[in-house]
Amino acid sequence: MEKDKLKMEGNSPPLLKVDNLSKKYLIKKTLFKKEYFKAVDNVSFCIDYGEILGVVGESGSGKSTIGKLILKLIQKDSGKIIFKGKDIDNLSKSEEKKFRKDTSVVFQDPRTSLNPRLKVYQIVEEPLIIHKIEKNKRKDKVVKAVIDAGLDETFLNRFPSELSGGQRQRVAIARAIVLDPDLIIADEPTSALDVSVQLQIIKLLEKLKNEKNISLLFISHDLNVVGNISDRIIVLYRGKIMEKGKTSDILKSPKHPYTKILFESLPPDHPSHRKDLTAIPEIEREDIEGGCVFYHRCPVADEICRKEPEMKKFQNREVYCHFA
Ligand code: ADP
Ligand code: MG
Repeated sequence: MEKDKLKMEGNSPPLLKVDNLSKKYLIKKTLFKKEYFKAVDNVSFCIDYGEILGVVGESGSGKSTIGKLILKLIQKDSGKIIFKGKDIDNLSKSEEKKFRKDTSVVFQDPRTSLNPRLKVYQIVEEPLIIHKIEKNKRKDKVVKAVIDAGLDETFLNRFPSELSGGQRQRVAIARAIVLDPDLIIADEPTSALDVSVQLQIIKLLEKLKNEKNISLLFISHDLNVVGNISDRIIVLYRGKIMEKGKTSDILKSPKHPYTKILFESLPPDHPSHRKDLTAIPEIEREDIEGGCVFYHRCPVADEICRKEPEMKKFQNREVYCHFA
């Protein structure tokens, strides 16, 4: 109800606003020196109510780190994360509880994300217990979530090991929706599944978005999947946003050289033709300290790219490139 109210107010803040988010990991520590790796570098974006924002980038580009920072599973170094108008660093105890209830996550591999010792009923019930939902209300909620996730009551008594990969991911989704969240972080939710099952899970997530007005941060390295499901996309490279915009605009006319390589020759929705993110032609060029982070692989880089580009803002589009 609250989300409907906020949505109708017009000028209401977006569901999630991420401003200049940065995170580096300590990778080496000696007596004299600490070495860090910048996993997320000055990233900003919003997610509206009922919107799917796709985050695409190759392995190691910082996608999961962004998801974990939003969920407060790890600490950011700098930047702001505003959820429903409130800075998630400054929540009261009750606001913190509500934040945990309003956000949930679906991970890549349901074999490892589901407790193998619990039955489906218990797996889906667990968040309700954690959030102290009365016992007599729990059963209805569990059954509804399982059915909403496309399973039926016969699954409640089964263990994860008795289910197929797609069914397990539906259980993970049932668990993620059982508290009626506003935002789900879906981190490569289809990457461990067979291609035929991937599409069913995408359809399910779209249905949940439409029927329950749930927003999604949909993380994937698969351009076809992200292109299919997302309203808007951010393209990450080495922890930085290369391009941000509406999916249809980016698919039609990508502006950043990296996005062009990724999307320009993206085949129509045909799984057997999916494009491999690692298949970008390597260009023999050294990295430049303080320059564009894509310099070493960029087909159009020039002298000016020794200086780091600003994020250029166009209508409905932002591009990290001197030539945009
Ligand atoms: P993605 O999800 O896009 O594959 P991640 O966010 O998982 O990327 O990781 C981004 C980068 O940060 C990678 O190079 C990864 O090796 C590094 N990284 C992730 N977690 C840690 C950690 N806990 N300690 C050190 N480095 C990490
Ligand atoms: Mg990841």
